[in-house]
Amino acid sequence: MENLAQYADWAYLIGAILFILALRGLSSPASAIMGNRYGMIGMGLAVAATFVVVGSLHGAAVALKPAYALILGAMVLGAVIGIYRAKTVPMTQMPETVAMMHSLVGLSAVLIAIAAVLNPSSHHDAIHRFELFVGCFIGAITFSASVFAYGKLAAKKWAKSMKGGWVKPVQIVLALGMLGFGAGYFFTESMNYFYVMTACALVLGYFWIGPIGGGDMPVVVSLLNSFSGWAAAGIGFTLNNSMLIIAGSLVGSSGAILSYVMCRAMNRSLFNVLFGGFGAAAAGAADDGEKKEKNYRAGSPEDAAFMMSNADSVVIVPGYGLAQARAQNAVKELGDLLKEKGVKVSYAIHPVAGRMPGHMNVLLAEADVPYEDVKEMDEINSDFAATDVVLIIGANDVVNPAAKNDPSSPIYGMPILEAQRARTVMVIKRSMNPGYAGLDNDIFYMDKTMMIFGDAKKVAEDILKGLSGGGH
Ligand code: NDP
Repeated sequence: MENLAQYADWAYLIGAILFILALRGLSSPASAIMGNRYGMIGMGLAVAATFVVVGSLHGAAVALKPAYALILGAMVLGAVIGIYRAKTVPMTQMPETVAMMHSLVGLSAVLIAIAAVLNPSSHHDAIHRFELFVGCFIGAITFSASVFAYGKLAAKKWAKSMKGGWVKPVQIVLALGMLGFGAGYFFTESMNYFYVMTACALVLGYFWIGPIGGGDMPVVVSLLNSFSGWAAAGIGFTLNNSMLIIAGSLVGSSGAILSYVMCRAMNRSLFNVLFGGFGAAAAGAADDGEKKEKNYRAGSPEDAAFMMSNADSVVIVPGYGLAQARAQNAVKELGDLLKEKGVKVSYAIHPVAGRMPGHMNVLLAEADVPYEDVKEMDEINSDFAATDVVLIIGANDVVNPAAKNDPSSPIYGMPILEAQRARTVMVIKRSMNPGYAGLDNDIFYMDKTMMIFGDAKKVAEDILKGLSGGGH
């Protein structure tokens, strides 16, 4: 075993390269499956190398048994829960599941840091104490913030948005407490300081996410992803494991880049997202907003089928409602049938459509929509003016023209899919209710807009029936 252990670093290096290839693969839907495979092989290699390292640490075969039993037991338990969750989670609950998974990385960082601090056989020099302190508080914030983000995304009663002037002072006191007790541990090595620092960080994570809500949640989810990566890198330093440091840094930096890209897509600064409480304001706007009587035009799926079969080009804009209704397969069939009828069909994706980064890409890929038909916002926006019909399916905020035209709107400045510029606009949703940000949407009231009320899947199937009956 000891002989093999000398190769562990090589295995970790190859694993790290495979992780980089995995990330590269995941940058495009076409190469994502291959990317996933690289990631799985890299992880397999890392786990195997860790087994060998554990073997070399203990030396005697007798001492190995409990260590291996613990590792294997934890792996089997984790795998069973993971496989069960992966098989049963509906697509609509993916965002909260992702948030929950980030929380586990944060929790393990905290537990490993505490175990390392408590380990009587290891001496902690200043650098090590600093790593432990930073790794632990990032992990603790990641844990509690992710649990709260999970609650918000799953609309749990205990995860209500916090509002009011008292929140910021509480955040500042907690942050100062966390840093102060952390410094106390650093200088005195007192375990009590370490525990209080961890408790402050746990509560701070909760109060940090509390006031953030609505439109800013996507950035928060991706930021928590980044945090979980840095927490894993912190564990890597604690355990002196190069693989964890590299993998954690990859997750940390790619999550940070994604957060930055999403902030740009929403025209928000990261600082503003984290400390501005915009989401709560946006959600509040729905409650305060006066309900004006405005006219809209409703039509049937048959009307929609007729108009689309006579169009030259149709752009489909999917949003959260498509995920909610699980309408992706029906919509793909609809797109295919239109194409058979000679209509040019594209799918327009907004970076924050749905409830998690890439939500719409995942759904469309699941339904086998060809990648070349799927267009990102910057690519498709110039095409809308020349588009005959735009079919908005369960999307709302991402096509709200107020983001462009109304400086008083909480989402003013957020780039949108400019669906309002198409010749005809059709919107499938169940009611006139607002979307996630709680705002009314003028696109529903335009003369050229036809609302088609109903569940997205049912309406898409009815349009399909209508299309099957009619010709071009
Ligand atoms: P929205 O939440 O703005 O709108 C979705 C619309 O879908 C609703 O107006 C709803 O109207 C309709 N809908 C819901 N269920 C159904 C159904 N079964 N059938 C038909 N329609 C349905 O979604 P968008 O995708 O436009 O925008 C995403 C919003 O979520 C943004 O504000 C974004 O910031 C936020 N967000 C995004 C995250 C991400 O990472 N992508 C994460 C968290 C939040 P009705 O009730 O009338 O049917």
